[in-house]
Amino acid sequence: MIVIEGCAIVTVDGDGTEYTDGHLVIDDGRIVAVGSDAARTADEPVQRIDGTGCLATPGLVNTHHHLYQWATRGLAQQENLFGWLTELYPLWAGLDADLVAATTGAGLGWLALSGCTTSTDHHYVHPTGGGDLMAAQVEAAGEVGLRFHPCRGSMDLGRSRGGLPPDHVVEDTDAALAGTEDAIDRFHDPADDAMVRIAVAPCSPFSVTTTLMTEAADLARRKGVRLHTHLAETVEEAEYCQRVHGCDPVEYAESLGWLGDNVWLAHAVHLDAAAVARLAATGTGVAHCPSSNARLGAGLAPVRDLLDAGVPVGLGVDGPASQEANHLGAELRQALYAARLRGGPAALAAREALSLATMGGARCLGRSGDIGSIEVGKLADIALWRLDGLGHAGIADPVAALVLGPPAPLELLLVGGRPVVARGELRTVDERELVRRAGRAQRTLMRRADR
Ligand SMILES: [Zn+2]
Repeated sequence: MIVIEGCAIVTVDGDGTEYTDGHLVIDDGRIVAVGSDAARTADEPVQRIDGTGCLATPGLVNTHHHLYQWATRGLAQQENLFGWLTELYPLWAGLDADLVAATTGAGLGWLALSGCTTSTDHHYVHPTGGGDLMAAQVEAAGEVGLRFHPCRGSMDLGRSRGGLPPDHVVEDTDAALAGTEDAIDRFHDPADDAMVRIAVAPCSPFSVTTTLMTEAADLARRKGVRLHTHLAETVEEAEYCQRVHGCDPVEYAESLGWLGDNVWLAHAVHLDAAAVARLAATGTGVAHCPSSNARLGAGLAPVRDLLDAGVPVGLGVDGPASQEANHLGAELRQALYAARLRGGPAALAAREALSLATMGGARCLGRSGDIGSIEVGKLADIALWRLDGLGHAGIADPVAALVLGPPAPLELLLVGGRPVVARGELRTVDERELVRRAGRAQRTLMRRADR
């Protein structure tokens, strides 16, 4: 049993319950009590944590990522999406299981340090002979200790058939489907306390055939897993859909069975009112990635419109090659800023930004019953942020401090009650070793590209 007391608590429950001086009790990986003042427990806790000066929030949920890109950061610095992809695809052709293990460890370790307790990944590059990439990811995530929803991605539309990626980085359609089904069979855990769940995730309209999209949707529904893809990210993608399919990206997705309450879409930047209404009517979720959208100059997603329509919206850092900071805690402020640049100062409140990164993400991943808020019975995925340092001094409202202030130091990060970060340091893995392995992966990939 762990007791945390003396901290502010923002539960993000349905009533918006907050405590200025509260306690949390965790037993057997779940939250068993939350309330004001000190905890009253019959048994003496194994660990009692003084949360004075801290804010407890639900652990943050990252809804879109490409962990392998940890090996190709800082490149194509002034390209739009298509130019950036065209420069990086040939590098990614050199990926293998060792590099994917190293980049997954680095990326998830960094996410943990930024307050994230659950992350997706979207791995869509599967080079021939690259080894068992999904197993490498699942193993590396287990070492870091985050809850992990890897999406088995795929591409089968190479340049010779009108797609954007070079032919040598795409898979055969049947191989992509077989690899996806295999990942579900081996790693998907439907249990409500699952540490690993698989989603089905063909990459994007300009890198995937309609056959793969349709059959992937059938596979996901047959297996009872979720669907994820990139959609409506850039103007160029919208033009591609008009030219090739004669409709906008959301109409295209709907025609393929790709809208629904088991689907969440990355980006959804370029949407008209009809597209927003279709996402809302179908219960389709959105992974909002404001820093990546800014880095690639893709645009400002209509987050206010999506929320007003009732669309589940989560936050995503997106791959570390298209937004090198990759700090999910800092993405709270970026989301607020992006919404306000588009819609004015009332477009997103600080508490709404926190809600996107917690319950919004949980809804996107189909886990709103298990994670995303601090409520009795839910899994003990908790971030405890230090707000008593100079960077947050003079801000009385802890949520304003967390969202509007600089990234807050992380006092403690619990995943299922297990400490993954304590006093700003990873407890499950050696951070210096993650740095060494990520550096080695980057150098190996560059060497392979030079050959
Ligand atoms: Zn992406």
